[in-house]
Amino acid sequence: MELENIVANTVYLKAREAADGDGKRKGRSRKWKSLMKFADAAEVQIYKKEFPELNYDEVVSKSPIGRLLFTDFCNETEELRCCNKFLNDVDNYEKLAPEEQRLNLAQKIYQQCLCDEAESRLPDHLIDREKVNEVEDKLLGESPRYIYSEIASTVRDYLSGEPFSSYLESKYFTRQLQWKQLEKKPIGKHTFRHYRVLGKGGFGEVCATQSRASGKMYAEKKLNKKRIKKKKGEMMALNEKELLEKVNSIFVVSLAYAYETKENLCMVLTLMNGGDLKFHIHSMGAFTEDRARFYTAEILCGIQHLHQCNIVYRDLKPENILLDDAGHVRISDLGLAIHVPDRQVVKGRVGTVGYMAPEVIKNERYSYSVDWWGLGCIIFEMIEGQAPFRSRKERVKREEVEKRILDGKYTFSDKFSDDSKDIVRQFLELTPATRLGVKGDKWTTAKQHKFFDKIDWIFLEAGSATPEFVPDPHAVYAKDVLDIEQFSTVKGIVLDEADEEFYRKFATGSVAIPWQDEIIEVGVFKEINVYYENDELVSPKEE
Ligand code: ADP
Ligand code: MG
Ligand code: MG
Repeated sequence: MELENIVANTVYLKAREAADGDGKRKGRSRKWKSLMKFADAAEVQIYKKEFPELNYDEVVSKSPIGRLLFTDFCNETEELRCCNKFLNDVDNYEKLAPEEQRLNLAQKIYQQCLCDEAESRLPDHLIDREKVNEVEDKLLGESPRYIYSEIASTVRDYLSGEPFSSYLESKYFTRQLQWKQLEKKPIGKHTFRHYRVLGKGGFGEVCATQSRASGKMYAEKKLNKKRIKKKKGEMMALNEKELLEKVNSIFVVSLAYAYETKENLCMVLTLMNGGDLKFHIHSMGAFTEDRARFYTAEILCGIQHLHQCNIVYRDLKPENILLDDAGHVRISDLGLAIHVPDRQVVKGRVGTVGYMAPEVIKNERYSYSVDWWGLGCIIFEMIEGQAPFRSRKERVKREEVEKRILDGKYTFSDKFSDDSKDIVRQFLELTPATRLGVKGDKWTTAKQHKFFDKIDWIFLEAGSATPEFVPDPHAVYAKDVLDIEQFSTVKGIVLDEADEEFYRKFATGSVAIPWQDEIIEVGVFKEINVYYENDELVSPKEE
């Protein structure tokens, strides 16, 4: 290995370790507190306009920081504290508790919040005797799930009324506006430190990067301004950025910041350290069925989320599925994805040879069906170790591959179980309307396939499932820096005023939810969000 590569990897791995470690600054800059200084309470009132509406949903439910501040607010009043605790506990028990702890947690909620002598008993006006009786009955059943949903929705309705109005008048909401002001601060290249190149995209490199204020590591996808202009890629770049901004799922790479430098447009994305599925399939061989099932289930949740946002992804293949440190996967590269408002269909022969659905090859109108076809291809490749319609390194013309697809010609080896064969067959159904994922109740029907019998969907959707394989934390799952081809300089392109307008549309700074998640996850929120006895809303003193 060349020295340059060793150095690049060492620096990068050290940064990752510092960010994950329990050191004092966790990769934050020495001056991080000055980057995170609250403005005066009077100055931040204008940030109210950053919320689409000042209701419970926008200010609390959809805002990670809002949820924490609302909890602080509730904790001041015994009655509200009990209500809020109940909602948090119910959420935890429904989404995070594994099967074997569920009954235990359900009982705990009953003992702490509902029974007569409960320490955090819900206020009487919210307790419906009949519903509590029902809960008591269900607690005698096996591994009860969702037994508190109805009561929780009553409690939520209550909190979103008068208590929420008082929250808006409280110091906690002013604090939320102070955080909003920090979130909206301009972003530039000095917001980040940059590390080694991880890969090469069509318009520029992707490199590892780190927020100076928080120490959080990301991947930064650069799009060279001149190269975009030369290839007329403006619409494509803006499309990818705007779609990424809309999605918010732990199974799709998220966009945390979009900004510009003199030469580049930059998208700061979830860092996926573990390599892509193509690499893992071809370097270590086909997966066990359990491992394939786990990835299939997570990808399915990613597809479901995109489809719920009216996005057709159009480029599913192992290369576009990336692993993180823990071994969870996310869909990445939304470059070919397209927004299809209600019930519309699209046309366009886009995708990757060998993974395109028959309706795409035939140049028909299509929508979500093509992604379910792609999922079928991925399952096949994970279990077989080869793609269904084209073996690795096989020298075969595009026309021949497309003919195989239209004929539905692929063969299962004995690596497949009956269930895995059946699910692949149903996803690789030539007619879109009868394909699994399209037919019946869409993804819900797909999730009920026998192949997924072992999957606990709610648990998996919350990100709580245990990955079947964990990447080596000391490895860099990327090509050597010197093996990543360099870009040549773009000549003869001049940027003008019209380009500037496009850059302004692109470079919108931080994206609310990922930014807030970052601040909470790295502990910055906890350190900075202090209150003083005299109710002064100022930042803690710097050491
Ligand atoms: P393009 O759309 O231009 O093809 P990609 O989004 O596919 O660009 O990114 C190019 C390469 O950069 C990928 O093949 C992968 O190696 C690397 N890469 C992209 N996104 C990430 C990420 N979030 N984390 C780590 N590496 C990434
Ligand atoms: Mg790509
Ligand atoms: Mg792309």
